[in-house]
Amino acid sequence: MSGLVAFTSPKTGCGTYTKTQYPIVLAHGAAGFDSLFGILDYWFGIPEDLAAGGAKVYVTEVSQFNTPEVRGEQLIAQLEQIRAITGKPRVNLIGHSQGGLDVRYVAAVRPDLVASVTTIGAPHQGTQVADYLDANFANTLGTVIGLLSGSSNPQDAIAGIRSLTSAQVAEFNASYPQGLPATPCAAGNALVNGIRYYSWTGTGVLTNSADLFDGALGVASLFASEANDGLVGRCSAHLGQVIRDDYLYNHLDEVNQITALVSPFEANPLVVFRNHANRLKNAGL
Ligand code: CA
Repeated sequence: MSGLVAFTSPKTGCGTYTKTQYPIVLAHGAAGFDSLFGILDYWFGIPEDLAAGGAKVYVTEVSQFNTPEVRGEQLIAQLEQIRAITGKPRVNLIGHSQGGLDVRYVAAVRPDLVASVTTIGAPHQGTQVADYLDANFANTLGTVIGLLSGSSNPQDAIAGIRSLTSAQVAEFNASYPQGLPATPCAAGNALVNGIRYYSWTGTGVLTNSADLFDGALGVASLFASEANDGLVGRCSAHLGQVIRDDYLYNHLDEVNQITALVSPFEANPLVVFRNHANRLKNAGL
């Protein structure tokens, strides 16, 4: 839970394309996926790639299962560490999936720590998969999740999944509205309280026949009624300036998984992250 990993450029002067003023902090998503990635890097090859271009990158780790508020508080403690280590007052937060809600919470309650918020495939209006699980399996949800994840704390697991339902996210949004679209599927405010907000997402599901997880996301996508990445709907992922909302990515492709098995017919996720770091750099962030 306190796993904070730093990535810096292997050699000085090897590149400046991603050399942002403030450190880049990567905040992971919810549940099962993290356990799944225990032996892999969650952000597959991404921090190394950004560091090679001159960025200072930190990968944070919070509870696998819990609410964005609880996970956000854990993140704040790690941001305080990063501030102490780097001497930089603020960071560029990038959150994937539930990590996108965590970083919104952080920016809302500790804006002094944050230069920008970027969310990728994050369920800002909830996810219909969580709605479905909650509606149909509420009584057995804890057991199911415990079996899937080996979680020793099913109460946190239930709270974690419930926090991604449309109803719970609506409550979260009422407390932390920064950067949200004013009307469904619009863009949000790009600048709130001095903090830049950005987002992107995919709407592909079966993108690489060699990736065994594409099938599982295909099943999950059946619960959804709109274009989605297998877990999160296109419009649900909108926050701040929408970079793009229809990459040929599924939910795992967005973080270059599994092990870089992504579509050959779309911009590589590493390049999308690299270009975004350059965007932040050019914005003085
Ligand atoms: Ca994939």
